[in-house]
Amino acid sequence: MTTNHKNQGSFVLKGIAASPGIAISKVFLLRGEAVKIDTTQVESSELEAEVQKFNNAIQKAKNELRALQNRVAQRIGQESAKIFDVHQLLLEDSIIIEETLDAIKKENKSAGHAFYDTMQKYQNTLDESSVEYFQGRISDLKDVKRRVIRHIQGDRTDYLSKLEGSAVIVARDLTPSDTVMLDKRKVLGFATDLGGRFSHVAIMARSMEVPAVAGLRRLSSLVQEGDRLIIDGNAGKVIIHPDEKTLTQYRRLQEKYYEVEQRLSIIRDLPCITLDGKEIELSANLEFSDEVESAKSHGANGIGLYRSDYIYLAKKDLPTEEEQFEEYSKIVKEFPNDPVIIRTMDLGGDKHPQSILIPPEENPFLGWRAVRISLEREDIFNVQLRAILRASVFGNVKILIPMISSLQEILECKTALEKAKSELREEDIPFNPDIDVGVMIEVPSAALLADKIAREVDFLSIGTNDLVQYLLAVDRGNERIAYLYKHLHPAVLRMIKDIIIAGHQQGVWVGMCGEMASDPLATLILVGLDLDEFSVSPFYLPEIKKIIRSVDHSEAERIAERVLEFETACEVEKFMTRIMRKNFKDLII
Ligand code: PEP
Ligand code: MG
Repeated sequence: MTTNHKNQGSFVLKGIAASPGIAISKVFLLRGEAVKIDTTQVESSELEAEVQKFNNAIQKAKNELRALQNRVAQRIGQESAKIFDVHQLLLEDSIIIEETLDAIKKENKSAGHAFYDTMQKYQNTLDESSVEYFQGRISDLKDVKRRVIRHIQGDRTDYLSKLEGSAVIVARDLTPSDTVMLDKRKVLGFATDLGGRFSHVAIMARSMEVPAVAGLRRLSSLVQEGDRLIIDGNAGKVIIHPDEKTLTQYRRLQEKYYEVEQRLSIIRDLPCITLDGKEIELSANLEFSDEVESAKSHGANGIGLYRSDYIYLAKKDLPTEEEQFEEYSKIVKEFPNDPVIIRTMDLGGDKHPQSILIPPEENPFLGWRAVRISLEREDIFNVQLRAILRASVFGNVKILIPMISSLQEILECKTALEKAKSELREEDIPFNPDIDVGVMIEVPSAALLADKIAREVDFLSIGTNDLVQYLLAVDRGNERIAYLYKHLHPAVLRMIKDIIIAGHQQGVWVGMCGEMASDPLATLILVGLDLDEFSVSPFYLPEIKKIIRSVDHSEAERIAERVLEFETACEVEKFMTRIMRKNFKDLII
């Protein structure tokens, strides 16, 4: 977290972008409910009553959770309701129950005191873990602890019902039950000191489609109830006491967002087709399977990139074949008639799972990454390929291999795939034997060899996020040189054009799943260059579709030709901004 700017009480805190969108409102401050525990020793004659109190509280908590779970399932969906499964399991955990009962009977502790100490012990163990996933589980423990103690003490105050008008919720942390107790219509966004993209508040915010920023560390101690706050869930920052200029700027941005949302209902079910009838595939990028709903509601025709990396990052152990099969199947079943492109793990770089030891490297983004790990750790790759193959029976699954830099790697991947297929065949496990295999073109060597690579695969998907960083030698995460990171750089455009031509000459389709596909300034150029598929962040789907539906393919070709004559990214940007302002006044650019 950094404090970027201080101006007449207005300041900015940077955290982790947990859910997109913009909210401007007053703060509703959820102070951590301090649990008051009576630590006085209980008379032996009263111990049985304490045991009874504890058992009753557990039962009430279970009933309450079940009701809550049903409510969430109805309001938000089955997927989100599963969050409470962990809580039910904790309430049934025999070790927790036994330890608490022992502490009552043998140490003369009150029911509340005994349960608090037991839960605190497990919480401390998780507190010591630096793994984001475990940090996320702490809120499960706290939630259960608070719920049971509330029932032991007979305290049913629902502090969240204090929320009267609309507000943004600021809290140190938010448990899932906190989140769902809130009236969705009144909650405009979340900002929390703790948590990250794996925490419940992030997952819930995304499915509630409200912006959220997590990991703000000190926010809850810096704001007061009723303070004005802007949550920028796209940039992962909050602005406290914004000045008039900032407010005006964000209100404008927010209005644009609302307009896009409104157009959504009109454009969502329309085909993605140019004015003169050229059909273009428009699919969504996914990182978590729980984002499937958002992709569907924004009108995605399938998934163009499912980043399976998070399955590995979310767990201490390697995800099993069964776990992966379930996760992939869940997505495929949501899109039974559309392509679902599952990218094999792209670990390394800045993605370090606990289960695979990736030693520190001088240049991790040029190091042991993605397919390089898959090909060395055949065992792990085999499990993933088997799981993807098994999920392929439910729809139109395609496999996408990241970070390919040579032909040899593709051939080795294909050998690994054949091995997984023959194993499944021998085990009589069904799969689609003709599953399509594609590669990401995100390394310049692969781009230059695109014609040869295309002969070996069924499709190419251009990963501009990495391609731009490797082609322009600009670290994609380095703020200091961010001004050099430009996907409208003439060298990038020329390379994209050549990749598409090479793919088409070999008879394969070419898509793009890098962020450039979500940039409205680039859409007409990419249509003109004959890109077959755009895979974009769900929020941008309607906007990109709107642009595609408003142009003749031949006109887009003329624009692309003109743009390729420019010498600098700045010229391209200016030219495209002019075109977009003239023709798409109503879109965010
Ligand atoms: C890319 O590099 O463009 C891409 C889509 O992959 P990632 O952002 O996951 O590296
Ligand atoms: Mg990449």
